[in-house]
Amino acid sequence: MKQLSAETIRLLSSSQVITSVVSVVKELIENSLDASATSIDVKLENYGFDKVEVRDNGNGIKVADVPVMAVKHYTSKISSSEDLENLTTYGFRGEALGSICSISEVLITTKTAADDLSAQYVLDSSGHITSQKPSHLGQGTTVTVLKLFKNLPVRKQFYSTTKKCKEELKKIQDLLIAYGIIKPDLRITFTHNKAVIWQKTRVSDHKMACMSVLGTAVMGSMVPFQHCSEDSEVCLSGFFPKAESDSSLTSLSSSERSFIFINNRPVHQKEILKLIRQYYNVVMPKECTRLYPIFFLNITVPASTVDVNLTPDKTQVLLHCKESVLFAVENVLKSLYGPLPAAVCSETNKTDVTSEDMFVHKTDQTGVVVNALEPSGNNDLHAHTSFLSFSSDVQNCQAGKNTELCLNHQTFCDDNMPSRLDEEEVTESDAFQGNSLKSVLCQEKKGGQNITDSLESAPVDPKSKNDGEHLCRMDDISELEKNEDLSAPKDLPEISADNWSMGKGFKNSVGDNPEPVKILIPEVEGAINKQNEYNDDQSHNPQGSNQSTKKVSLINDKSGQIMAYDLISSQVIRKPKSAIALFTQECRAKLLTDNPKASMEDILLKIEEQWKNLNEEEKKNYEVKAAKDLERYNRQTRRALEQSSHRAVKDAARGHKARLKASLPDQQKLDAMFHSQLERKRKSEQPVKTVMVPFSVRSCKRSSPRHGEAGAREHELCLIRRQSFPDIWIFASEEKIMLLNPYRLEEALLHKRLLMNHKLPVEKLEKPIVLTDSLLGGSHYMAALYKMQKDYQRFNGSSYLSDPRLVANGFQIKVIQGASATESHLEIEGLANCLSYYGISDLKEILNAIINKNAKEVYECRPLKVINYLEGEAVRLARQLPLHLSKEDVQNTIYRMKQQLGKENKGCVHGRPFFHHLADIPEVNK
Ligand code: ADP
Ligand code: MG
Repeated sequence: MKQLSAETIRLLSSSQVITSVVSVVKELIENSLDASATSIDVKLENYGFDKVEVRDNGNGIKVADVPVMAVKHYTSKISSSEDLENLTTYGFRGEALGSICSISEVLITTKTAADDLSAQYVLDSSGHITSQKPSHLGQGTTVTVLKLFKNLPVRKQFYSTTKKCKEELKKIQDLLIAYGIIKPDLRITFTHNKAVIWQKTRVSDHKMACMSVLGTAVMGSMVPFQHCSEDSEVCLSGFFPKAESDSSLTSLSSSERSFIFINNRPVHQKEILKLIRQYYNVVMPKECTRLYPIFFLNITVPASTVDVNLTPDKTQVLLHCKESVLFAVENVLKSLYGPLPAAVCSETNKTDVTSEDMFVHKTDQTGVVVNALEPSGNNDLHAHTSFLSFSSDVQNCQAGKNTELCLNHQTFCDDNMPSRLDEEEVTESDAFQGNSLKSVLCQEKKGGQNITDSLESAPVDPKSKNDGEHLCRMDDISELEKNEDLSAPKDLPEISADNWSMGKGFKNSVGDNPEPVKILIPEVEGAINKQNEYNDDQSHNPQGSNQSTKKVSLINDKSGQIMAYDLISSQVIRKPKSAIALFTQECRAKLLTDNPKASMEDILLKIEEQWKNLNEEEKKNYEVKAAKDLERYNRQTRRALEQSSHRAVKDAARGHKARLKASLPDQQKLDAMFHSQLERKRKSEQPVKTVMVPFSVRSCKRSSPRHGEAGAREHELCLIRRQSFPDIWIFASEEKIMLLNPYRLEEALLHKRLLMNHKLPVEKLEKPIVLTDSLLGGSHYMAALYKMQKDYQRFNGSSYLSDPRLVANGFQIKVIQGASATESHLEIEGLANCLSYYGISDLKEILNAIINKNAKEVYECRPLKVINYLEGEAVRLARQLPLHLSKEDVQNTIYRMKQQLGKENKGCVHGRPFFHHLADIPEVNK
């Protein structure tokens, strides 16, 4: 016997951790999420074999940790096995980076908030640094993996066919989708050979995240739920298909959209999946039993009851409280789909005896026992389940509660491979536990309350409405620091479409949302009196004047003054905040939501009181934050001043310098300016004197044809002004002023156009499918096909059905002429290759539309799968539009909207509106 060399041992163990490109991406993503990243870019070249790069904006790696970051068994996440009891991170073994190093060439670029510059490190196969150089990248970490599996030729060979490689890409996409769903505020892009394959923006909650992945049609068929066991140990939330939903929308032939998360970690839990399938099948047609429902289930259990250290890729977890979890899931399922029919379990018991079936057996027993007492089938006990209406945004109650950041995805785990979990479960004890579950149920039922009561008393968190707002606000110091380097455009705060729609996209210099422009409506009579009344009110209530003062502060008279802009080279530098100011900022939003009617003064008093009640440690925290903020301010001003001195030299040549003549140093000037701004704000909080000025909207309209009737008649909508932000355009119609999001509009137009004209590309089938009455399920389908237009192709002598309703939907159907009519038949020779599981049922959907709804146009008989696919395509195409649209482009878009959408203005493909109402333009006598 010989001992293996250290190098061989390293290689063997590494290739167990890193088995595929997916596992590289997974490990790197998890590291990014563990480092609190909110933006991740994944880039592959040649399916990842030439290059895998994952870039994040997370905390970065401390200089002290750099030398060991990729050395095996070094981790910053746990110190001993006891820490596993409270695990809140994905990683904990310190294996990933080291393993990747031994099978590829790795570069790591990183920068923490404390570092001035980022540095790029080159690592050797043992994870040690061989060289380093400074880099231009901002805060965060970029791991670049080159020549993956360079020393494992067989592993590489495994991916020699394009099909395998494409499957791998799909798995990566599915993995990223899982992270995207469980982390709504994560922005992800996934690129292969420079083409964007999938991307997700930040959204406010799980509902929106699911919406962006599954589409509106599917999410419209889902019902949100929340459920907590009595002891609050097991909490469930998510979305299941509605009982009455259309199975073609809410199921797939694989489990790739059956998302199960345990403590935010996507897991492969066959038992739970099987349970859900069984209940779903109760309400679905018989032929759907082979399908997997689409759902999102997030299970939260105490970290100490989960063992993640089961498989190298952590896709399996061991649950100590498995029984309670299954019980809780079943409760939700029962409330939704009713109890399982007795047939289901006897049938399953006959066919195969696996651990899952043991559970089914248990389920059935519980069902029977409880049904005897509670015929309604709502036999949940001591637990809170709630199904919330979709129109409300409140189902995301657990947001922020789950600190565990653990993700894995079940889809890249081989479905056929029997898991260790399953093997362990086929034991007698399991069967025994089945009985105990039953007895627990009985006992609980005896003394229990009826769940229907608790169904109504849904735990609803009103705060969750504000999730979106939190995303946009820059309260957080770390957020401030991330955006520190304002000169780099990529670091500018991102404005999400949602926040934009809600008017929360921008902040003015004092950190408030700017008010939309208000147009004073000329009142014919009593206007002056009313104005006076208003002023009187204001004097009693100084806060009341806030609105008008904001308007004043928005448009400042710039001429002749030195603006902060001049001094700091067009960068906005936020004034440092004191500890109490930071605290105020944090509390204010919450207090305002809780007490919407309270005056500003009351709120300030409340905040002051809360501040006094803080303990020393909490206060200290804020002081530390304030100190950091001051540091940040000093650093930014220093940097900006350096730049402005460069600029000043240039400006001097142009005679610009006169404005900067004042003798004070720039820093002091800046401070004085900020100070006077605050003063101005304070002053303006006092009542404002109102002077009535005669004004006629009509004459204004007449004198300004661009805003007025001429323009309005021509397009009805008239572009007033383009802001310096790419997404935002202001339009006026005759009655109102609106903001427009041209990208949403383009998306809807593209979708419509694709629905009308797009021809799905066809790929020849290896074996044609012969169409028969029995295959289609009725002779009327065949009759409809035979009636369709044929096209004779001279070069090969065959003819094809050339009806655009078939061709555009990706069906190439050949007509085989026989000697007699009975010998003639039709066969599908080619099929659309861009949709998975496309086929006969979709052909039937087209034919049904033609037969039952007399659909004549292509867009009237698009199968649902095609509609969804085209929706995705429209989104993808719209995202490729240039960031800066010209005025003509936008006007053209508006024009096409009128032409093509007419009155049907349902918003973009996600159902979001194109326009955001700003103000009404008052009526004038014509
Ligand atoms: P583990 O995640 O199990 O601790 P890894 O080998 O994946 O082990 O990473 C080693 C260490 O490198 C981590 O503990 C972490 O401190 C650091 N690290 C790796 N990737 C990142 C990243 N993207 N951002 C910040 N730190 C990282
Ligand atoms: Mg890791």
